[in-house]
Amino acid sequence: MKKVHIFNAGPCVLPEPAIEAAIEALKDFKGTGMSVIEISHRAKEWESVMDECRSLWRELLDIPEEYEVLFLSSGASMGFLYVAMNFLEKKAAYLESGAWAKKALKEAKGLGEAYAIASSADKNFCYIPKGYEIPTDLDYFHITTNNTIYGTEIKEDMDCPVPLIADMSSDIMSRPVDVRKYAMIYGGAQKNVGPAGVSFCIVKKDLLGKVSRYIPTMLDLRTHIKGTSMFNTPPVFSIFVMNETLKWIKAQGGLKVIQENNEAKAALLYDEIDRNSLFVGTAAKEDRSIMNVCFVMAPGYEELQDEFMAFAKERKMVGIKGHRSVGGFRASIYNACPVESVKALVECMQEFEKLHK
Ligand SMILES: *Cc1c(COP(=O)(O)O)cnc(C)c1O
Repeated sequence: MKKVHIFNAGPCVLPEPAIEAAIEALKDFKGTGMSVIEISHRAKEWESVMDECRSLWRELLDIPEEYEVLFLSSGASMGFLYVAMNFLEKKAAYLESGAWAKKALKEAKGLGEAYAIASSADKNFCYIPKGYEIPTDLDYFHITTNNTIYGTEIKEDMDCPVPLIADMSSDIMSRPVDVRKYAMIYGGAQKNVGPAGVSFCIVKKDLLGKVSRYIPTMLDLRTHIKGTSMFNTPPVFSIFVMNETLKWIKAQGGLKVIQENNEAKAALLYDEIDRNSLFVGTAAKEDRSIMNVCFVMAPGYEELQDEFMAFAKERKMVGIKGHRSVGGFRASIYNACPVESVKALVECMQEFEKLHK
């Protein structure tokens, strides 16, 4: 058991066995007498980690043959540029569901014609925009499946008449995904599948190579496909921990089980937010994220915010401060967040209510 309850938004809580394995590998990697950060990335012991990691991605998400899985040493923010560089020829549309979506759109605008097809900026992104129509003449349509800052989530794989590209930084591996519905899925590892320093990209190979622009070598996804994610030195430590995290996900029973656990954890917390007269949720109920749970003090109790923060801190809750653009609180309850931590937070909210009733 961890000594504190970690609700950090990212980097965030990771499975205990992954951290234990990382400690071991830092000392002696697979009996080589060297640390995982000392070996050559061309060593066969390392290649086997890369292979295992790729196959775990394929197995857990049921990734079809026509897709490649890449590990890139750049965050999701660089992913925004990968998308536009590799897919934008004439026109692309973006769903403006939050700050990350806006940043993704900005990169595309820098390279060509891109626009927001719908936006929830009018209500500080507290809901997922709906009721828009996707034109069929787009190079792609870009969505952010989980809006980490606002706690809203697109929980189903949508049908899309044009290639669908998704930033899944903060809900990848939280549920099974129908990969076939996407042209590309990408994100940073540090929210649900590992430490910072590596990002993932699942891309349908035959959709690449269709743009006429010059793509710098490192930004061309085909470079990394050809180089099997080792065109240049990969972030070995981050990939090692990601692999261990995926092993843990598999040992839990795979993504169906993970999803059930996540939904149960989220329900515990949302039920308490809805029941407790001191707190209210900020995200539209139908769009509530199972990964990031955002809430604020209820009207009339706003002045208790700092007191609750201190109260929770005393009870070993870490990372529940909301993002500055939403305020209040955010509990990020990613895969590796134990249900015990969620229960502890719920109890903390109940005790706090008793103090003030
Ligand atoms: C955190 C986050 C990002 C940015 O990730 P970096 O790896 O820090 O660039 C992008 N999109 C979403 C949805 C995120 O949660």
